[in-house]
Amino acid sequence: MLRIGLTGGIGSGKTTVADMFAGHGVPVIDADEIARALVTPYQPAYDEIIEAFGRAIVDDDGNIDRDKLRQLVFDNTQRRQELEAILHPRVRTEIHHRSLELDAPYCVIVIPLLIEADQLDLVERVLVVDLDEEKQVQRVGARSRLSEAEVRKIIAAQIERSERLRHADDVIENNADLASLEAQVEKLHRRYLTLARE
Ligand code: ATP
Repeated sequence: MLRIGLTGGIGSGKTTVADMFAGHGVPVIDADEIARALVTPYQPAYDEIIEAFGRAIVDDDGNIDRDKLRQLVFDNTQRRQELEAILHPRVRTEIHHRSLELDAPYCVIVIPLLIEADQLDLVERVLVVDLDEEKQVQRVGARSRLSEAEVRKIIAAQIERSERLRHADDVIENNADLASLEAQVEKLHRRYLTLARE
């Protein structure tokens, strides 16, 4: 099974691209979705996170408030590492198990922190969704309540665009419209099917 690691900065179009691959019948594994499931009540990471970060991060319904958690770790390297130490090994294990269960020529694994969190050994190829920062700021701004300054701060905290591209085996350029994106996905889909057969 050929595993394609799909990554890119905030709002680069990872989900949109993953959905397009899914439209071609390609199985998609989403690290964010796994991480979200891990912190729900009765799941293994739930108690550990509350123990580490306190009950203040739990909302009235007993759910971990992921926005609060994000704020707590955003500017604090030590706290972020603490959270990652709880989540990342479990996300890795789950990705590994899910990919073993698949019966397909290849799969796409969406891992926003593929390079930052050193998860490259989970995949055979790295696919980066890339776009100009201005476009990125504009798209993220359009879909959230974040100010332009906040969006730029998040982008600045992420791995540099050139560094991400350095790890790329394939690049999808997402400055244009959805039709252009779909055309690139279709081309890569054919390429990955060929590679999977080799
Ligand atoms: P995040 O990092 O927050 O998980 P993401 O990388 O998954 O984001 P998407 O959610 O796929 O990115 O895209 C970000 C926003 O940009 C969405 O509102 C999406 O609909 C829009 N978008 C993505 N690609 C295009 C495009 N080519 N043309 C217009 N809008 C686009």
